[in-house]
Amino acid sequence: MMKIGIIGAGPSGIFTAINLKNENNEVYLIDKNKEIGKKLAITGNGRCNITNIAPYEDFLDNIIRNRNFMYSSFSKFDNYSLIDFLSDNGIDTVVENDGKVFPKSMKSTDIIEMFKDIILEKKVKFISNTEVKSINKSNDFVVTTNKGEFEFDYLVLATGGKSYPKTGSTGDGYTFAKRLGHQIIDQTPSLAPIHISNGFNIKALNLRDVTLNVNLIDKLYSERGDLLLTNRFLTGPIALKAQARASRDDITDMLIDLFPNYNYESLEEILLELLIKNPKKNISNVLKEIINESLAICILDRLDIDINTKANQLEKENRKALIDCLKCLRFKAVNNTSFSSAVVTSGGVDVSEINPKTMESKLVDGLYIVGELLDVDALTGGFNLQVAFTTGYAASLAIRERI
Ligand SMILES: Cc1cc2nc3c(=O)[nH]c(=O)nc-3n(C[C@H](O)[C@H](O)[C@H](O)COP(=O)(O)OP(=O)(O)OC[C@H]3O[C@@H](n4cnc5c(N)ncnc54)[C@H](O)[C@@H]3O)c2cc1C
Repeated sequence: MMKIGIIGAGPSGIFTAINLKNENNEVYLIDKNKEIGKKLAITGNGRCNITNIAPYEDFLDNIIRNRNFMYSSFSKFDNYSLIDFLSDNGIDTVVENDGKVFPKSMKSTDIIEMFKDIILEKKVKFISNTEVKSINKSNDFVVTTNKGEFEFDYLVLATGGKSYPKTGSTGDGYTFAKRLGHQIIDQTPSLAPIHISNGFNIKALNLRDVTLNVNLIDKLYSERGDLLLTNRFLTGPIALKAQARASRDDITDMLIDLFPNYNYESLEEILLELLIKNPKKNISNVLKEIINESLAICILDRLDIDINTKANQLEKENRKALIDCLKCLRFKAVNNTSFSSAVVTSGGVDVSEINPKTMESKLVDGLYIVGELLDVDALTGGFNLQVAFTTGYAASLAIRERI
C-alpha cells in the first residue's frame, strides 16, 4: 500500500490528509505539536475567519503575491466549495462585514474538533509531538524526526511560514524545500502592525472610517476603513492591509485623514461653526464634539496649542494647523516589523517551480508543497486560510489520481 507523509498539521496539511485518505493508501500527518491546528485555533481572534464570499475575480484580487498561480486550484476548490464542505460536516457559517465567513458558533475550536473527527473516522495516522529534522530523497522520501525515521512514497510539505513561530510554524519547510533543490523567495512579515516613532500617549484608540496613506520612498498606498491607533504602532484592518502591500519596501511615514468625507474647506466650516457657537469653551472641549477627547488633547499638544485656549481666542494660524492635522495626521514609521506579530509570511517556495494544478514540485517527483510555505499570500478577510485549503485540496486530488 502506498504511504504518503504530510509534514505539518495546519489547515493545508489537514485538508490534504483528509481528502487524500482512502482504503488504498496510508496517510501519515506529522506535526511537532501535540494537537492539530495550533495556528488555526488562534485565527480571527479565536473565531476563525475561514473564508470570504467575495466573487471569483475579487477573491483572487485579495491574493497579493502570485495571484495567478491560484487560478487553477481555486477553480477546483473555491470559497463556496469550502462553505459546502463545512456545512456537510455539521459546521454552519455566517457572513460578516466585507464578506468574511465564520463558523456560526464563532469558535475556531469547533473547526478543529470537526477535523479531529474526520481524521479519526478516515484513519489518517496523526503522529504528534514529532519534529521533522531532515528529508532525503532516493527512491523514496526518508524523513528523519526526533522519534526516528519514516519512509514515504509521496511527501507533502505543509509546514507553513514563519510568522507566530510559537505555534510551531518556524520556517523549517524553507530549509527542507531548499535542500530538495527548490528556490526560496526571501521572506518578510506581512499583515503586521506598523511601528511608529512619534506615537501619542494613548493606549489604544479605534478610529472608524478613516483614510490611511502610507508613504514609501517612491510609492503611496491608500486604504480606507477602520484603524487601531496605539502609542507604539498602527494596526487594525487598514493598517495591516497597507503593511501587507508595502511589506517589501521601507515605509517612511503615514498620514491619517480623520475626516475623509470632508475636504479642507468644509471641515474648516464645521470647526468655525463650533468655535462660534461655543466662544467660552476650551478648545479641547470644542474638539471633543468631533473627535475622541484623548486624541484631541494629543493633537493640541503636538501643535503646541494650550488645551485651555478659549474657542474665541484661537488664532487663525492655529485653526489652520488644526485642520491640517485632522486631515493629515502624520506618524513616522519604524521599519522593525517582526514575524512574531505578523499574521502571515510573504515569500517562500518559488511557485514557478510548482505545478499550479497539482502543487507537485516540477523538480522532485512525488513531492508536493502546499499552504503558506508557498510564495503566495493574501490580505485579511479569510483569504489566507482559503489558500491553505485550496492548495491542500489540489495536492490531495493529484496524489489520489496517481495511486
Ligand atoms: C494570529 C493569526 C490570526 C490569523 N487569522 C486568520 C484568519 O482569521 N483568516 C485567515 O484566512 N487566515 C488567518 N491567519 C493566517 C492563517 O492562519 C495561515 O495562513 C494558515 O494557518 C496557514 O496554514 P498552513 O497549513 O500553510 O500552515 P500552519 O497553519 O502554519 O501549519 C504548519 C504546521 O506545520 C508544523 N511544522 C512546522 N515545521 C515542522 C517540523 N519541522 N516538523 C513537524 N511539524 C512542523 C507546525 O507545527 C504547524 O502546525 C492568521 C494567522 C495568525 C498568526
